[in-house]
Amino acid sequence: MTKVPVLPKTKFYEGWGLLDLYIDKPDDFEFEPGHFLGVGIEGRALEPYSIACPSDKHYLRFLISIHENGDLTPYLRTLKTDDLVVIDEEPGGFFDIQKTTKSNSVYVATSVGIAPLLSLKSSHPITVVIGGTTIDEILFYLDEISNIRPEALIYSVASEVAGKHVQDILTDFIIETHEHFFLCGVPEMIADVSTRLVRAEKTWEQIETEVFV
Ligand SMILES: Cc1cc2nc3c(=O)[nH]c(=O)nc-3n(C[C@H](O)[C@H](O)[C@H](O)COP(=O)(O)OP(=O)(O)OC[C@H]3O[C@@H](n4cnc5c(N)ncnc54)[C@H](O)[C@@H]3O)c2cc1C
Repeated sequence: MTKVPVLPKTKFYEGWGLLDLYIDKPDDFEFEPGHFLGVGIEGRALEPYSIACPSDKHYLRFLISIHENGDLTPYLRTLKTDDLVVIDEEPGGFFDIQKTTKSNSVYVATSVGIAPLLSLKSSHPITVVIGGTTIDEILFYLDEISNIRPEALIYSVASEVAGKHVQDILTDFIIETHEHFFLCGVPEMIADVSTRLVRAEKTWEQIETEVFV
């Protein structure tokens, strides 16, 4: 394990329960888009977080939902510039979002499930991005995505406001006209959408998932 300092760009969005964490990247640290990394503080077990920036940056960025009674995230929330966080030496990953080199792909995320998409360079085309959350403010990440990916169709849904979920935005037409699907976030969404894709005769080779549990 390695200790690295928190960078000044780090911001905690109080009302949204969201930590936008930037930490120094060790010189020899390498990762691929879609990888996650164990992050924590001394004396607490590390938890995996998806890396939310491309690999050519001098920092590592993470989007972290704070769970009020959680074992780790309430402590991460109080981090200040130059505090030390503990990280694993090696990243891990099963979520092969590099497959988005296929131009007709769809990325579906709930809340901070949008993070892995931010690790992909904009040269990876994605046709449709659908992001949802229970709070509307977090959707500002989708603005960031639309700046990076002006060519993509971006849909966002704040379920508490709209009474809809990302599943409702993913229409049969989008499913029929796209080949690859990247699903990231809460298990319920991933189970629902995967089932629907398989029923629509998509194969498991066409579906990549990352469950945040
Ligand atoms: C591969 C992978 C990548 C991940 N990437 C991210 C990421 O980029 N950003 C991120 O915020 N999290 C991510 N997670 C989830 C993260 O690793 C932890 O599970 C979470 O931060 C645990 O927080 P905690 O220890 O404070 O809460 P815990 O002590 O684990 O839980 C406290 C309470 O919060 C609830 N809770 C815990 N996690 C969630 C959740 N994800 N959604 C809703 N309720 C929850 C629990 O049910 C419990 O009631 C990822 C998980 C995996 C497996």
